[in-house]
Amino acid sequence: MSLAIVNGYMIDPASGRSEIADILVEHGHIARIGKGLKGTKTIDAAGYVVCPGFVDIHVHFREPGYESKETIASGSKAAARGGFTSVVPMPNTAPPIDNAGMVEFVIRRARETACIKVWPSACATKERAGQEMTEMGELKDIGVVAVTDDGSDIASSWVMRRVLEYADMCGLTYLAHCEDASLMDAGAMNEGYNSTRLGLSGMPREMEEIRIDRNIRLAALAGAKIHIQHVTTAGGVEIIRRAKANGARVTCETAPHYWMLTDEAVTTFSTDAKMNPPLREASDVAAIRAALADGTIDCIATDHAPHTVSDKDVEFQLAPFGIVGLETALGLAVTGLVETEVVSLERAIELMTAAPARILNLPVGTLSEGGPADIAVFAPKAEWTVDPAVFASLSRNTPFAGERLRGKVMTTICDGKVVYQHP
Ligand SMILES: [Zn+2]
Repeated sequence: MSLAIVNGYMIDPASGRSEIADILVEHGHIARIGKGLKGTKTIDAAGYVVCPGFVDIHVHFREPGYESKETIASGSKAAARGGFTSVVPMPNTAPPIDNAGMVEFVIRRARETACIKVWPSACATKERAGQEMTEMGELKDIGVVAVTDDGSDIASSWVMRRVLEYADMCGLTYLAHCEDASLMDAGAMNEGYNSTRLGLSGMPREMEEIRIDRNIRLAALAGAKIHIQHVTTAGGVEIIRRAKANGARVTCETAPHYWMLTDEAVTTFSTDAKMNPPLREASDVAAIRAALADGTIDCIATDHAPHTVSDKDVEFQLAPFGIVGLETALGLAVTGLVETEVVSLERAIELMTAAPARILNLPVGTLSEGGPADIAVFAPKAEWTVDPAVFASLSRNTPFAGERLRGKVMTTICDGKVVYQHP
C-alpha cells in the first residue's frame, strides 16, 4: 500500500525546495520525492500547495479536567482539520501535568485517541504554583519536549532563575507566559482608550513587557535558552529584538489574532474576543507584523484555548480568557500575512513548520526522503467562510465567525495516513 501525492507545488522551507513535485509515501514515511511517481492510491494536488504538516507548540486540549471544552481526541481532529500534524498541549489542565504519572496519561491518551502527533509538555513547578520545581530530568526521559507554567508566570525571580537553569541542564526549553499578575487588577482587555470608553478594567502592556524583559534577563543570568509565548505589544517586540541583537538565547511566538485584530473587536462586548494577553491597538498590530517580517518573531502558534458556549455566555468581565485557533490559522496566515505581503508564502509556511519544530528540536516540520510522511495539502487562493458550527473542536469561541479567508486545507496526512480530507 502506497500513496502518491502528485502534481502539487511542494514548498519545504527547511530544505529550500519550492517546485512542482510528486511525493510517494510508503509505510508512514516519505519514500521518494520526484517526478512521475505512482502509488496504489493517488491524490491529485494540481493547483495546491504541498508542504510539511503544520506544527503548533502552544495549544490547550483541556484533558484531563475540562473534557466538555476539548479532549486530546477532539483537539487533534481540530488540528488535523487545520493542517496540523504536530502539537504541544500545555500542562495547565486539572490536575496539572506536573509529574511522570500525568505525562504518561497524556502519552497514553494521545496514543489511544489522537490522529496526529501530540508532544507532551509539563509544568516547571509543582501544581503550577511557582514554588517547587518538578522532576524535569525524569519528565524529559519519558518524553516531555518542553516545560512551562503557561496560564501564569512564575512570580518569584529566584524560582524562575532556578527553573531556567535546571530546564536548560535537562535539555528542555522553558515556554514563558510573561505576565506581572500584580498589575492585573480585574483586567479583562487591553488598557487604553477603548477600555476607558467601555468601562472595563484594563491590562496594560507593561504587564507583559516587564516580564518579557525580566525573564530574558534571568535566562541570560542562568545561561539558559528561553521561548517567549504570545507576544502582543510593540514594546515586547522591541525588547526581544534588542536582546537578540545582544546575543540572547531567546525565541518567541505570536498568534494569528494579534496580527489580525485590535481591541476594537471587544467594543461589541463579544467574549469571543477576550483572551490573555489581550488584543492591543493598531500600533501594536503593525509592530507584530513588522516583527514577523524581519524575523524577530520566530514562529506562529495558535494558543488554541477552547471554552464552551456556556462558559463564554456570561458578562464580559466574568468570561474566561481564550479563543480556538487551530482551524483558522492557515487562513489567517494566508489572508493576513501573505496576501498583504507581510511575508512570502514560503516564509509563512516556515513559521508554521520548520521554525517551531526547530525551537523544541522536534523531528518534524520538513519533507525529506526517509522522514515521516506528515504533510498538509492546501489551496492557497481558495476563499472560504469561517463557520464555527462545522469545527471539529468541541468549542466554538472564535472572533472570526463569518470572516472570509483565503487558504483552505484540503488534505492532512500524518505518518502516511489521511487524517483529514476536505469533503
Ligand atoms: Zn499563555
